[in-house]
Amino acid sequence: MKLYPKLYLNNLKEITIELLRKNNIKGLILDIDNTLIDFDKKLLEGCEEWCDNLKAQGIKMCILSNTNKQYKVKKVADILNLEYLYFAHKPNKKGFKKAKELLNLEPQNIAVVGDQIFTDVLGGNRSKMFTILTKPIDTRDIWLTRLKRPFEKPILKRYLRKKENNNEYMA
Ligand SMILES: [Mg+2]
Repeated sequence: MKLYPKLYLNNLKEITIELLRKNNIKGLILDIDNTLIDFDKKLLEGCEEWCDNLKAQGIKMCILSNTNKQYKVKKVADILNLEYLYFAHKPNKKGFKKAKELLNLEPQNIAVVGDQIFTDVLGGNRSKMFTILTKPIDTRDIWLTRLKRPFEKPILKRYLRKKENNNEYMA
């Protein structure tokens, strides 16, 4: 199922080096809006430390965002000291391919991390990468995302029910 993530976490800080090693993940492609920053563009508390820790353990990371606001992406990328791609048209595979080249890793060794099923999860699955859905860090969304949220709900519900019934979707 292309709309189901491999993992569903509360936020990206739950991604530990053990979890990544267990799943053979060597690199992360990170979303920005509601994954790294909230509606007011404030960074998720503790994510600098989280990022530094994983990088120190050899995990490569880059940012892949759909926003066309380069300054917004660059600001976060500079703080976290990461390379970035913006205006990516996720779930289009092109952006994921570019991110994969930045990381210089095979798709099966990359995890896509983001808060949206129809962009992050769908694009990551289509690109044959590991997908981690995180809960949005803010209840507020930019308008385009807000329109899509009601369609995510039944998918999430089915996904969670399936996960409860078997371990197939547990990574
Ligand atoms: Mg997002």
